[in-house]
Amino acid sequence: MSERKVRVRFAPSPTGALHMGGVRTALYNYLFARKNGGDFLLRIEDTDSGRFVPGAEQYIIDSLKWCGIEVDEGVSVGGPHAPYRQSERREIYWKYAQELVEKGWAYYAFDTAEELAALRAEYESQGKTFAYNYEVREKLPTSLSLAADEVETRIARGDIWVIRFKMPENETVRMNDLVRGEVTVHTSTLDDKVLYKSADRLPTYHLANIVDDHLMEISHVIRGEEWLPSLPLHYLLYRAFGWSDTQPLFAHLPLLLKPDGKGKLSKRDGDKLGFPVFPLYWVSPTGETARGYREDGYFPEAFVNMLALLGWNPGIEQEIFSMQELIELFSIEHVGKSGSRFNPEKARWFNAQHLKRKSDRELAELFLPELQKRGVEAPLDKVERICGLIKDRATFVSDFWDLSSYFFAAPQEYEEKAVRKFWKGENPARVAHIAELLECTEPFDVRRAEQTVHDWIVSESLPMGQVMNSLRLAVVGRSMGPGMFDIIELIGREETLRRIRHALTVIKIPE
Ligand code: GLU
Repeated sequence: MSERKVRVRFAPSPTGALHMGGVRTALYNYLFARKNGGDFLLRIEDTDSGRFVPGAEQYIIDSLKWCGIEVDEGVSVGGPHAPYRQSERREIYWKYAQELVEKGWAYYAFDTAEELAALRAEYESQGKTFAYNYEVREKLPTSLSLAADEVETRIARGDIWVIRFKMPENETVRMNDLVRGEVTVHTSTLDDKVLYKSADRLPTYHLANIVDDHLMEISHVIRGEEWLPSLPLHYLLYRAFGWSDTQPLFAHLPLLLKPDGKGKLSKRDGDKLGFPVFPLYWVSPTGETARGYREDGYFPEAFVNMLALLGWNPGIEQEIFSMQELIELFSIEHVGKSGSRFNPEKARWFNAQHLKRKSDRELAELFLPELQKRGVEAPLDKVERICGLIKDRATFVSDFWDLSSYFFAAPQEYEEKAVRKFWKGENPARVAHIAELLECTEPFDVRRAEQTVHDWIVSESLPMGQVMNSLRLAVVGRSMGPGMFDIIELIGREETLRRIRHALTVIKIPE
C-alpha cells in the first residue's frame, strides 16, 4: 500500500461561502499532493439538497483559483472518474446501498420523522436519550423486524423509508489517524446512521463519501477535525464493502480557533473584530454579504502563507514562504494536534512581508489604476521608484496613496506638530537658503543635492535634524517619509523650489 499513488481530494459541500478553515483543508491536501507527486481532486458533495446554496460551487472554484491551488481532477476540470458532483452520481450510490442491505450490513427503516420525534420525547420523559441502535432496531418497523413481504409491500406502495447502517454490537473499532495516532471507539456509543433516503433518492454524506473515495482511488483523506466522530462508521463501511485493504489513510486537522482561543473561528468573530473569514467577497442568494481577503487587499500568497502556518509548522525559524517552498517543506507529521488560534494582526503582518518582497515594477502596476482613479497621470518608471521608496511602510497597496501623495501633488496642509517643533528660529531662513543652493546644484540628483545641502549644514555647524526636518516639512508637509533627497530628485528642481517658496509664505511661525 505504501507504493500507492498519492491521490487526495477536497470535498466541500456547497452550503455557502467557503470558510478560511475550508481553504486551509484544501491547501494542506494540495501541498501534500504536490509534495508527493500525487493528484489533487475537487469533488462537490451536494447530496444534502436542503442545504444546497446556488453560487457556492463557483465560489469554491474561484477561491481555490485565487489561492493558486490547482485542481488536477474535479468539477472544474473533469477527469477519468467524472462526474465529480455527487448529485450526478445517484445510480452509483443506489447500487452500493442495495449491496449493503443484501450483505446484511444495512436495513430498511420505515419509521416516520413524527414517530421518531415521539419516541425521542418518550425517552426523554424517562430521563433517557434515544439512540437508533441495536437496542431498538428490531422493535421499530424495519426490514429486521418486519416480514420480507411486508417490506416489499411498503416499498412498492411508496412508503417513505431510509436505509440505515447496522452498527455491529459490542465491538471496539481501532483506527489510525496520521495526526492523532491510534483512536479507539466502542460501537455501543454509536448509532445506526442513515445511509440512503427514499425521499430524494439520494445517499447521505457517509455513504457517498466512502463510495467515492474508493472509486476515485483516494489514498489519503485530509479533512477537518469535525469529521473524526464519523471515522468509526467510515472504517466499518470500508469493511462492509470489503475494501479495508485499500481504504485511505486518514488525517484530521485541528480546528481554527477565535483570536481569544475560545471556540471555533466564525464569521461573527470576523464581523466583530473587523477581519474577513472568507477568501473572497460573498453575496448569498438572499443578499447577505461577507467580506473577503481578496477585496480587503490581501495578496493570495500572503493568505496562503498565513493559512499554511495555522496548524502546521515547518520545523524551522523562517515564516515567509512561497507556495513552492511550502510544497517542498510540507509534511503531515508536522501538523499539530491542538487548535490554532487565528491572529488578525499576524495576517496583516504576512501581507506586509509579501508586499515587501514584490518587485517595485509589480507594485507600480498595482498602484497605477489607483492613481488613475484619482486623476493622477504619472509614468510607470517614476511610480516604480516611488513604490520602492514607500513599500517598507505599507501593509496593503491601498496604503500607497497616503504614503506617497506628496510625490504627485504639493502638500495642502502642514502637520501641526511638526510646524511647532521645527518651523521656528532660524529654520525658515535656512530652508530659504537651501532653496538657493538647490537652484544651482548640477546635476540635480540625489547624490549631488544631498552633498551640497549636507556640506553647507556642516560647514555652518547647524543642527542637522532641525534643518532637515524643516526642509521636509516645507516640501512634504509632514515629518515622516523616505529619504529627503530621493523625494527632491523625483519631484524635480522646479517643483521643489516652488514648494519651498510656497511654504515660506504660508506656514505661520507659531507664537
Ligand atoms: N463534504 C464534507 C465537508 O463538507 C467532506 C468531509 C470529508 O472530507 O470527508 O466538509
